[in-house]
Amino acid sequence: MPYIRRIDIYRARVPLISPFRTAYGSDAAVEPVLVRMSDGDHYGWGESQAFHFPTFCPEYSAGVFQLIRDVLAPAIVGQELTAAEVIHERLKWFKGNPFAKGALDMAYWDLVARSRGEPLYRLFGGCDTIEVGADFGVMDSHAALIDKIAEALAAGYTRVKLKFAPGWDTDMLAAVRKAFPDTVFHIDCNSAYTLADVELFKRIDDFGLAMIEQPLAHDDLVDHAALQERIRTPICLDESITSPDKARKAIAIGACRWINIKPIRVGGLTPARAIHDLCAKANVPCWVGGMVETGLGMAHCAVIASLANIRYPNDIFPSKRFFAPDLAGPGLTLSGPARMRMLDTPGVGVEPDPARLEQWTLDRAQVTETQAMATGATLGGR
Ligand code: MG
Repeated sequence: MPYIRRIDIYRARVPLISPFRTAYGSDAAVEPVLVRMSDGDHYGWGESQAFHFPTFCPEYSAGVFQLIRDVLAPAIVGQELTAAEVIHERLKWFKGNPFAKGALDMAYWDLVARSRGEPLYRLFGGCDTIEVGADFGVMDSHAALIDKIAEALAAGYTRVKLKFAPGWDTDMLAAVRKAFPDTVFHIDCNSAYTLADVELFKRIDDFGLAMIEQPLAHDDLVDHAALQERIRTPICLDESITSPDKARKAIAIGACRWINIKPIRVGGLTPARAIHDLCAKANVPCWVGGMVETGLGMAHCAVIASLANIRYPNDIFPSKRFFAPDLAGPGLTLSGPARMRMLDTPGVGVEPDPARLEQWTLDRAQVTETQAMATGATLGGR
């Protein structure tokens, strides 16, 4: 039962090999916020990968750093964490901000697993190998995309995810489907459309996709339920699912038939597992996505991807897909075609490289017991 003595927080800028392009823009680097939680004997690392701008969701890197430094870490340091739920109980007074809360939840789990000398995925009852998929953003041409897909299929990937955005839409899909009539594809719209586009989505039914990820607004459930009623292709929610409660409501109103769990988007591994479990009970299959995390955040994602109700290849990638070099290591690597073996070292098995962390850090802070008490803030009406 760790008593938390200190939390160190880093915001880094890590260059990407090539820009990450989606419906909401392009990022040349990522800005992870890394959290190191210590009880004096052991430590654990968590990562919050929010983008520089609040484009994916309302949270963004500098805001995540500041919130953890000024508000969340002071509420955790000096506390006896008898269970992960204690973190969420302490932080429930602060509305929203799952990306900031999630880094602390992950650091807690890494700390607990390390202190027990056990790999985190085993503590979660996960399996030792996960399936992964191929994923392609907006590219310069259809031909370039088709070449990349051919490479991925030759490498043994069994499903391909395509970013889908105005201007990179049905023509792209028609070209891809013509080139690969039998491949399992799905599209990710990153909330770029509205119910006014229902005819577009009806036409997409003809492409036989496995699912359409987050077609409508980032915080919507009701319009997704209306769209799902009018199309055959299953909807998969990503951005809209920010908590177990949102997942429960989405299922209750028929807003989706799949859920993409991103641990950081929902507030960490504890709520991610809760969503996984409630989906399993409702027979809604899940898979795991990421936010272009470094090897550290990717390894945390893989813990959830190792659970039983994960029924579609995950968006979990080897470091070399995005980084040269990665901030953290040793990262997960492919252990066979479209498969990764979980790391069998204690905890999440990955941590930042000290020299690269030093080189790439933009902001750093530490919260100790003395500082936590000095904030003078009280929680829960006390
Ligand atoms: Mg998505």
